[in-house]
Amino acid sequence: MQQSLDASLSLPPEAVIPGISFRDTLSEAGEDDLRRRIIAYANRYDVQTGFFNFKSFQEELDALLDRLPAGAEVATVWIDVLNLRREFGLWGVDAAEALVRAVASTMRNNLEKDALVGRITSNCFAFAVEVSKADTMGRSRLQRVLDALLQAGTTEFEAAPEVAAGVAFSPSDADSAEDLLRFSSLAAARARYTHSTSVLSFQPGMRMLLMRSHLLEMEIAKALDRNELSMLFQPKVDLVSGEVLGSEALMRWHHPEWGAVPPAEFIPIAERSTLIHRVFDFSLRSALANLARWSDLGVSPGLVSVNVSAANLRRDDFARHVRGVLAEYPISPADVELEVTETLLLDDEELFAARMHQLKTIGVRLAIDDFGTRYTGFNILQRLPLDTMKIDRCFIRGIHRSVDMRTLCGTIIAMARHMRLRTVAEGIEELEELDVMQQIGCDAGQGYLFQRPMSVGDFTAFLREWPARRAALGFATPEEACEVDPLYGISQ
Ligand code: C2E
Ligand code: MG
Ligand code: MG
Repeated sequence: MQQSLDASLSLPPEAVIPGISFRDTLSEAGEDDLRRRIIAYANRYDVQTGFFNFKSFQEELDALLDRLPAGAEVATVWIDVLNLRREFGLWGVDAAEALVRAVASTMRNNLEKDALVGRITSNCFAFAVEVSKADTMGRSRLQRVLDALLQAGTTEFEAAPEVAAGVAFSPSDADSAEDLLRFSSLAAARARYTHSTSVLSFQPGMRMLLMRSHLLEMEIAKALDRNELSMLFQPKVDLVSGEVLGSEALMRWHHPEWGAVPPAEFIPIAERSTLIHRVFDFSLRSALANLARWSDLGVSPGLVSVNVSAANLRRDDFARHVRGVLAEYPISPADVELEVTETLLLDDEELFAARMHQLKTIGVRLAIDDFGTRYTGFNILQRLPLDTMKIDRCFIRGIHRSVDMRTLCGTIIAMARHMRLRTVAEGIEELEELDVMQQIGCDAGQGYLFQRPMSVGDFTAFLREWPARRAALGFATPEEACEVDPLYGISQ
């Protein structure tokens, strides 16, 4: 199974052609002969690594499957090098080639001599070895190759490969090279999606999962054109006065065949492409249009909050874009709050801080969403021009039954107060949870206890009914309520 190449991977491509170098060959063979041999080589091998190219890897794998004795099994492992394009973009071709060399030499050093090794595309490698699916010892050999890759670094540029790997077995998963490659690549795609550092085995369900996310991506684009998206609004209530401070705009998608698709499923898919910018525009425009409509109707809904994906913030002109959209509506930027989760913050602190400061110059309010789920430090938060901290629901759920959680939440609120941030408790469902959050000084709350997200029409009716309803939750009536600053509830 060994391909005929032993030359050092660090040599330039022409030197790795087996058994020949330009200098030697020119002295022995004519120029035509050399050209013919180079073309023959490049047709079969990847000149950078000396591994089989896609076509010949597939042919060799098919040949191997044909001569496989009865009862024997072959594992085909697909390896995606995830940071190759980034290395090229950031540091150029030398860095990208160094990374490829590191991957190729690590594979070569950690694979048996008879392994079939191929470079399938510029950033995808594959190898096939005889391993039984049921043999855990044998399978740990596959994992060892991945572990070695994850630990490899290039000496010159010090970039370690970021890799995701999947495996498919013959004959149990497939009996042709094409299917083995397809299935192992699906498993690698799943590994990439789940950030797995294991060689994931192909499972038939993966195809469905990938097809669904691919279908979803295509359907979201259509949904935006076909008016299948809508916004619901969920009130945020001041925990001292019981006033409605504003609402959060939450997107809903009703697919004509699939029915309701939850945002937790389609937002991450939209985030993988530029669709997320259209999704954001839809949320912002709907929120602004409704705010204007409420104001025409004489109801005062307070602030409106719109969710922003980390992927939106990567756009260079994001703040300018938001300013442009705001200018199209008769709404003050101070009535708009943008909710951003901590994800990007930890990924790229500098970019996150820069975007937040740019957005602040527009005059919008800024909130950190789902706080507490990502371990953001106090020192990082202090550098951001935030107005609000939304405490994630996982801290609120059952807080009345846990002294530890109550203490932890109390500390978060004290920290937020120190930074002059308004705190909002997410997902209050029980009266007891409301009680505790009031006792530990949380400024505002949102949750099913007050109201589930609702349509614009229902929200308008809710605002009218709320003064009568809030007494049932223990709030003072508007007449009884004392004067508090509805935005902060704290002395400035
Ligand atoms: P989020 O921004 O943290 O929104 C709060 C989520 O908690 C909403 O889920 C809301 O319906 C839910 N929720 C509110 N009160 C309660 C409660 O008492 N109990 C429980 N169990 N849940 C409660 P939803 O609408 O499914 O949205 C999920 C996430 O999807 C949002 O989390 C947000 O991250 C994202 N999302 C929703 N709409 C948009 C949007 O227009 N744009 C972007 N980028 N993301 C959105
Ligand atoms: Mg939110
Ligand atoms: Mg949240």
